[in-house]
Amino acid sequence: MQIMISKLPKAAFYAFVLCSFITCTPKKNQLTSGVVEQNEINIILLIGDGMGLSQISAAFVFQDSVPNFERFETIGLIKNSSATHKITDSAAGATAFSTGFKTYNGAIGIDSDSTNQKTLVEIASEQGMKTGLVVTSSITHATPASFYAHAKSREMAEEIATWLPESGVDYFAGGGLKYFNKRADNINYLELLEEKGFEIDTTDLNLAQEVFENKKYGYMLAEDGMPKSISRGDFLPNATVQALKYLSKSENGFFLMVEGSQIDWGGHENDSDYLIKEVMDFDKTLGIALDFAETHKNTLVIVTADHETGGFTLASKTEIDDQGVKHNNYDIIAPSFSTDGHSATLIPVFAIGPGSEIFSGVYENTEIFHKILEFIDNSPM
Ligand code: MG
Ligand code: ZN
Repeated sequence: MQIMISKLPKAAFYAFVLCSFITCTPKKNQLTSGVVEQNEINIILLIGDGMGLSQISAAFVFQDSVPNFERFETIGLIKNSSATHKITDSAAGATAFSTGFKTYNGAIGIDSDSTNQKTLVEIASEQGMKTGLVVTSSITHATPASFYAHAKSREMAEEIATWLPESGVDYFAGGGLKYFNKRADNINYLELLEEKGFEIDTTDLNLAQEVFENKKYGYMLAEDGMPKSISRGDFLPNATVQALKYLSKSENGFFLMVEGSQIDWGGHENDSDYLIKEVMDFDKTLGIALDFAETHKNTLVIVTADHETGGFTLASKTEIDDQGVKHNNYDIIAPSFSTDGHSATLIPVFAIGPGSEIFSGVYENTEIFHKILEFIDNSPM
């Protein structure tokens, strides 16, 4: 029994210990719903970069099918300021998730004193879990970088790339080739990745390919960021399918981070068509993760964002009638932006899976790290 529950959050574990002393019956949703049948936990963290509540709402307004966001049970809100600014960037935002430290804007996997802090990928890997990163940016971009690298600035893409072969990452998919094979130091980091056991593919996800538990896989399919969703097709959902096919071979669970990187880029460009298509692509990917969780009950799925981008709003259309009088047409939604940068709005958190209740409430972005750690860290057992 102890082994069976060893990967439950500590709170649930202590509830169990307490219950066994006073012979009460554990709450069904905590312990006996059959969710932890194996000694492993799978964690899928999906980050929509720049995805505030209006971006999420856009899926409800503009998507034909019911958004997968509606399938979650637990909802929370995070406060997302950085150590130095009221408004975070993606580096400090992702570092808060990956290390539990508030840091300065631009920092990758280091705290505000520039000390390297262990990331969720490194921690999970040390615990024997497999780890994966799937993104539509370069794999060296701020969000994924913060999960495996340590650098003083997000701009140091070639430096960030040097961390990947040693990082404990077992599967990755995204762009970023030029930071690995067209470097100022002329070292070919694709070859170094292969020396570390990676099978590298620079042309295709190769979905029909059989994947083996004892190998690592890297798909680097663009020089820098991946193309926009309209050109890259189903890359994000497909890479997530493939990552799950491989990672689920792990006998000790896995940690997978999936990023809809370009929701942020649509926001920066104040391009609502671009943004909305990226949100829909992200929502489709949520469906993949949620379907997997339905058939693998020991899976925790968490969805959140680092910050909102664009001050995006689903405003009504302003019209001027024949008399020259301005009015709001509440039948037409005309998405608009208030900035080409980030904003400070609170960010939703969606969670589902055994123990996911701990993601409800209003809390700092660093708590995402600590809450996930409760599922990974079984050291006190
Ligand atoms: Mg990002
Ligand atoms: Zn941004």
